[in-house]
Amino acid sequence: MRITKDQVVAIDYTLTDDQGQVLDTSEGSEPLWYLHGAKGIIPGLERELDGKQTGDHLEVAITPKDGYGERNDSLRQSVSRDQFDDNQELELGMQFRVDSGNEPLIVTIVEITDDTVTVDGNHPLAGMNLNFDVTVREIRAATAEELEHGHVHGPGGHSH
Ligand code: ZN
Repeated sequence: MRITKDQVVAIDYTLTDDQGQVLDTSEGSEPLWYLHGAKGIIPGLERELDGKQTGDHLEVAITPKDGYGERNDSLRQSVSRDQFDDNQELELGMQFRVDSGNEPLIVTIVEITDDTVTVDGNHPLAGMNLNFDVTVREIRAATAEELEHGHVHGPGGHSH
């Protein structure tokens, strides 16, 4: 079976940056399951996996354009510390959801001073080249329900 649109695919992967540092990996845990053609993974990786078979191993370098996008500096903002609850513990790297008008945005705290907190709405991997080492573990046809929902059900997927 080859990977085509509307198939459910399990991959093992290791993601490294250009310095070779591991950013994310499925090693030591379950493979990543996704629905092919449903934009469940970054576009560059989905494109490279198209047509591959179980057992195929690939190493791909993906530019920001095909990954998490370029960084957008306007998504980085300093806000006054007293906009936060006094009791709220604030730490670097902490993420939370804010309402940005149209769609909710996940922001990360990147700097804290006595007076201000700087949050960044860019994806942590925006602007980075992503180097994936991927092995295709399993391929199966998606069920009608999975296609309707646009995601994988069962082991490795949504359970609802
Ligand atoms: Zn579902």
